[in-house]
This record gives sequence, structure tokens and C-alpha cells, in this order.
Amino acid sequence: MAEELPIPVPSFEEAEAPLSESQQAAIRRLQKDENVIPAPIWLSRQAYLANDAIERAHALEAPEDFWAERAKLVDWIEPFTKVCEFDPPKHAWFLGGKLNVTVNCIDRHVYSDRRNKAALIWVGEDGEEHAYTYGRLYREVNRFANTLKNLGVAKGDRVIIYMPLTPEGVITMLACARIGAIHSVVYAGMGTQALRSRIEDCHAKVVVVSDFTYRRGKKVPLKPTVDEAVRELFFVEHIIVHRRGSRPGDEPYTFESEREHDFYDIQEARAIHCEPEPMDSEEPLFILYTSGTTGKPKGIVHTTGGYLVGTTYLAKAFFQITERDIYWSTSDIGWIVGHSFIVYGPLSCGATIFCREGVPDYPSPDVTWELCERFGVNLMFTAPTAVRMWMSHGAEAPAKFDLSRLRLIACAGEPLNPEAHLWAQKNLVGQSHGMVVDNWWQTEIAAPVLGTLPTFDARPGKVGKPLPGVVAEVVDAQGHPVADGHGGLLILRKPLPYMMRTVWNDHPRYEKYWSQIPGGVYTAGDIAVRDKDGYFAVLGRSDDVMNVAGHRIGTADVESSLIRHPAVAESAVIGLPDPVKGERIKAFVVLRPGIEKGPGLIASLKDHVRQDLGPIAMPADIEVRTSLPKTRSGKIVRRFLKAVEMGEDPGDLSTLAD
Ligand code: AMP
Repeated sequence: MAEELPIPVPSFEEAEAPLSESQQAAIRRLQKDENVIPAPIWLSRQAYLANDAIERAHALEAPEDFWAERAKLVDWIEPFTKVCEFDPPKHAWFLGGKLNVTVNCIDRHVYSDRRNKAALIWVGEDGEEHAYTYGRLYREVNRFANTLKNLGVAKGDRVIIYMPLTPEGVITMLACARIGAIHSVVYAGMGTQALRSRIEDCHAKVVVVSDFTYRRGKKVPLKPTVDEAVRELFFVEHIIVHRRGSRPGDEPYTFESEREHDFYDIQEARAIHCEPEPMDSEEPLFILYTSGTTGKPKGIVHTTGGYLVGTTYLAKAFFQITERDIYWSTSDIGWIVGHSFIVYGPLSCGATIFCREGVPDYPSPDVTWELCERFGVNLMFTAPTAVRMWMSHGAEAPAKFDLSRLRLIACAGEPLNPEAHLWAQKNLVGQSHGMVVDNWWQTEIAAPVLGTLPTFDARPGKVGKPLPGVVAEVVDAQGHPVADGHGGLLILRKPLPYMMRTVWNDHPRYEKYWSQIPGGVYTAGDIAVRDKDGYFAVLGRSDDVMNVAGHRIGTADVESSLIRHPAVAESAVIGLPDPVKGERIKAFVVLRPGIEKGPGLIASLKDHVRQDLGPIAMPADIEVRTSLPKTRSGKIVRRFLKAVEMGEDPGDLSTLAD
């Protein structure tokens, strides 16, 4: 056997954030851009917040009173005795209160005239269709919750969900919440190493997986990724497989391991009631992993009371969701948007969720608009990447369909460039004279923080204003406010109920968010600028995290994966601008001694990252180098590589501080 070479640990310069030339140019462009889209009067009139300024003033002047009022949107099993405790970095909300999110998302509708109303309408990529009334959702969730209990899953146990956007994926999330188990959904496009590190970090007792997903007409198997990931993880007691049914020509699926069960076969048909676990307001609801700068995924922990109050309030106040709406979010349950605004927020409001598995331009660019017309979608949540992709196919597709019911499209996840914003305003909500609105938030803060409401003008290129309860500012690295029109770091001076409470297994990493800048403020990790009227624009990350098609990917994740390839000695990864995806990944590698740059090398490196982390993290370009730019003490300088690629002045490497 060949001798194992030690894996070099990459060491990089600290993520400082002087504004790059391109960020400064973006600020200058924004200052010149005079585009304003007035809020349609008919939409303003029916907005949930009749007067957002009064709402904001109430939240600023009497925050406890404000949030106590908003907490009435939620049914409590036991009332809370205190609204908030804040001693940075610790914050806690609705102390002493007890609730169960599924009582709010399901039971309270079942015991109303919404019992037989559609809670969930699901369409597969090939047109397969299923609808779940609130009554049926209650039975399915309770049945699976009882199943988990029978397998020994108890309050506080972790359950990994590696499933595509299917009713069974949503049911599994809710079943965990019913019994107080902490779910952690891993996007079903992530690779073996990404899945394994998440299962290990949260020490999951159970993994629930679908046997496959569909992508652009192809069946993509998921189960082999789980098999590979859990092979040596003996603390995983059960693997529950949702077998999606075989089609002509399919091999019948068989179980090989004693810890594997079929999703439906282990359920008891008549066990349709499961007592909801009363959860303390501050007990965890879920962990959702996101990328950071170290290559180790961060398990963001969201708790129960504050999360549900925040997502219910913003589902109404920001997304304008009512129980009469058909609401479609094109995201996936693997992301925070999927948690807050596919599942918990809209269900808490009693809306009908429409969702579809698959990409929004397959089998044709018509598909999204055809479905909007067929199901009468009123509200949509999507990503700027999707808008740019629809834009690249032209305006003919949406024009073919009746979109007159579609009154609001909310975009988040990455900067919404003015061209895409204006195109969507004209071509997607033009028929209804509706509105496209931008909003900013992140995995760590589970609902919108900055955004444009349908009661004030949209300014393309700018996200909007702080939403009620938010105290946001732009500051320099020492925490001093920068003047309006100048770029800096986006911070929040006050916590929000729907903000994370810790990083699973790594509280010091959580504390860093609150200590990076002096003064006990939360640093979001983004570069932003505020204009004189209080509108914020978010220009991109201030740390070494990329945003590819709205997905957050750490440069260090990709670098560590490349270093796990036997041919690679060193690697550095940067994000470069991409007209559709926002950013694309470029990697630089130095090969190990004696390795030749043969014709298969680059493909092998890309395949390796795809298997390890998943297709979204695969570099678009890989360049082989004999060395990488380093500081005097040997730290690799990514921003030097990026400046050269962007045609900007990279500065003098020899003078860079360590
Ligand atoms: P994630 O945690 O994966 O949802 O990614 C959150 C990050 O996406 C933020 O920190 C921002 O960098 C970026 N982001 C989210 N929404 C917006 C937006 N509306 N405009 C600009 N950037 C955004």
C-alpha cells in the first residue's frame, strides 16, 4: 500500500474587508442609478402593515411590547413570562413559554374550517401530482411522528433528513417537530463528505433518505451517498428510506442492512394521533448547516418560540401570505428559505403551499408559468439566479400564460441586480400590476431583516429598509458608523427573536458573530451601503464565503476537498462574477511532487469535488500552478488571485501584513 502522505492544512490570511475595486465601482453605480418603482396603490391598500413607519417606530420605542403583541400570532401551550433577555452574545425570547410548532402549523387549522383546505400541493418534475389537506397532513405527520417514537427517537435526538422537496420531506420535518426531535435537513445535492461531516457533527440517531431525486429528467440516486457516509458511523441506529416507487424498467429496491426500514412499511396506518411535545420557547427546533470560512460546517441552531413568532409575523408582514393564498417558493427544504418559507411560516398562516421538485426551466422555460396559471399562484419567492435564468430565455414564456393573479414576487439569497429586477417587474408581475421585492437575511437569521414592503417604492439594486424590530447599520472594522453612501460592514445592534442562539457543538464560533466588532453587535459578514433615505444595498460577503446561484459555499470547503485528492499539494479558491449564477468558482492547485498534469487531471479533480461536496461546489475552472501567492509567513492570499483575475491592481504582495 502506498504510504499515506500527511494532508497539509491550508492557512490563509485573515478575512479583512477593505472594499475591492469592483465593490467600490458597484457603490458608484448605485449612486448614479435613479430607478424607482412605486409601490402599486392597490397592493399598498391591502398590505398587512398599513403603515410600516408606525410599526417600525413601535418596535424601536417599545421593543418588548412590540414583540409581545406579535407573539399573539402563535398559540402557546403555556404563556411566556418575559419577552426578552439580552446580554450579548446571549439572547433569549418568550421565556417560560411552551408551545409546539406543529400545533400552530397543523392542528389549529384542522380544528377550524380549514380542515379540508389544501395545505400542500406538490408537483413532480414529470408532472406527478399530490395534494394534502390540513386534515391529511395532520394524519401523515402524526403517523410518522409515532413511527419515530416507536424507533426510540425522543425529544432532543437529532434526525438527519437527506430528501428532495417531496411531501415526505416536509412530513418528516414536521414529525420531528411534533415529538421535539431536532431535525437537520441536508440539501439532497450535497456529496458524501458534506453529508458525513453533518451526521457526525450532530451525532444523528436516525437518517431519513429518499432513494432518488429527479434532476433535468434524470434519476439521481441518493441512497448510495448515505450508504457511503454512514458506513463507519455506528451511532446511527436507523436509516429510513422513502422508496419513491418503481417505474417500468426499474430494478426493485431491496434493503441490505438491519438498520434500514421502509418509510411507509414501518408506519402503523391507524396511529394517526400523537401528542405534541410541549417545547420550551428556547428549546431547539432544528439545526441547519451552512458554510463558514474554516472548511468545517457550522450547525446553526434555531429555537422554537422566537423562530415561530418571527416566521409567522414575517410571512404576513413581509410576504403578505394569507390563508386565501396559493404561495410558491422555488427554494428547497435543504435551505433556510425552505424551512421558514416553504414549511413553517406559510403553514402557520394556514396558506396553501405549492411546491415542485426540479429546476425551474426543465422540461422547458414555460414550466414555471404554466404551473402558476394552472394552480392560480398569487405569491412567489425565488432567487435572483432564477430570474436571470428566466430572463436569458426571453419574455415569451411568461407572456404565454395568465399570470394576472401573481401579485408579489420576493427575491432573496444574493444581490438582485437592477436589470433582473426591472425585467421581472415588467414581465412577471406586469400582468397583475404587482410588485417585485428584494429582501436580505441568512441561515443565521431565519426570516427577512432588510426588505422592500409593498407600501414604499422599490429601488432596484437596493434591498430596502430595516424591517420592524431591526436596528441595522453600516460600520467600519472598529465599529464606527460610516457615512451614508460609503461601504462598510453590515451589523445589527439588537438581536431578533428569529436569530440563531448558538452553533451546534461550537459555541465559541457563535460568540465570534457578536465579538468581531467592538460594542456587542452582530456582524453579518456582508458588505453593505446605506443611502440618505435609509435604503440598504448588500454588495456581497466580507469574508471568504462565495455565493453561487444563491448558495453559500466556503472557499475553505472547496480547498479542503481539493487537498483530499491525492494529486493536490496546495489549493486556493476564489469566486468570480458570473452573469447568471452571481458567482462561479475558480480553483488554483499546486500538484504534489512527481504528479504530471495529464489530460484526465482536471476532470478527475472536478469529479472528486462533486462526489465529496456535491455539484454546487464543483469549480467551473481549475488552474494548475507551480506556486500560490503568499505572505511572508506563508499564508495564501486569495484576494491577490482574485484581483489579478478581475484585472484589478493586486497590490504589492511583499508588503502584505501576515
Ligand atoms: P444563506 O445563509 O445561504 O441564506 O446566505 C446568506 C447570504 O446570502 C447573506 O449573508 C448575503 O451574503 C447573501 N444574501 C442573501 N439575501 C441577499 C440579498 N437580498 N441581497 C444581497 N445578498 C443577499
